[in-house]
Amino acid sequence: MEYNRPIVLSIAGLDPSGGAGLLADVKTVEQHRCLGFGVATAWTVQTENRFMSVYWLPLEDILAQLRPLLNQYPVAAVKIGIVQHLDVLRRIVDALPAGIPIVWDPVMTASAGGTLLLGIGRENLQGILERIYLVTPNLPESRVLGPVSAYCRVYLKGGHAATGKGTDILYHHGVILQRFPSGGALPAKHGSGCILSSAISAGLAMGLDIITACAQAKAYTEKALGSNTQLLAYHHV
Ligand code: PLP
Repeated sequence: MEYNRPIVLSIAGLDPSGGAGLLADVKTVEQHRCLGFGVATAWTVQTENRFMSVYWLPLEDILAQLRPLLNQYPVAAVKIGIVQHLDVLRRIVDALPAGIPIVWDPVMTASAGGTLLLGIGRENLQGILERIYLVTPNLPESRVLGPVSAYCRVYLKGGHAATGKGTDILYHHGVILQRFPSGGALPAKHGSGCILSSAISAGLAMGLDIITACAQAKAYTEKALGSNTQLLAYHHV
């Protein structure tokens, strides 16, 4: 039997609180009427506001989860979250069939504290980015990545901006394609970047163009931010 919803695959870490990582991604994807799959890159030990530890899965174990899914299902979009280092990212990207849009959220630190993504190694980045459809850094992450919009689209999150806070900007080839202003001040959430990147992936899986997918994802993320005053979002309100 065929599934009549697009499949979105998240390749990310397990956050047991469900606010970030795989669980947040699948909640988001399902709210977009897509079918959500998840491949674990890491197990974290954390709550909404305390980060204790991360155990990185060996690359072979990540690929072992990935291969049967790719062999059996027509995955329509992929979101990649936390990876230990760029070589793991490269090997994951290499294992994905060409033509599937890949959205990479280049998470470097956990919002609850704790370092993720060790060693960025610029020399390796260009070849990987050429295979990635969209990268979604916040401002500190974009400073570490450097000028990458020559190689792939960049959705720069403005949550850390001193001015125009909350306005996100979509770039391609160094040119601004669209600005996405915020609807107003909203309570912060653990995993807000995961929600945004998986919502964009769902939009792309549904066949939306990049600007519409980003606009829809921004609106979805702001709804999740405003869903309560706590750190863990409600997805179905
Ligand atoms: N992915 C995992 C598994 C995490 O634990 C975290 C943060 O704790 C993130 C991603 C990044 O979360 P955010 O969307 O808040 O940047």
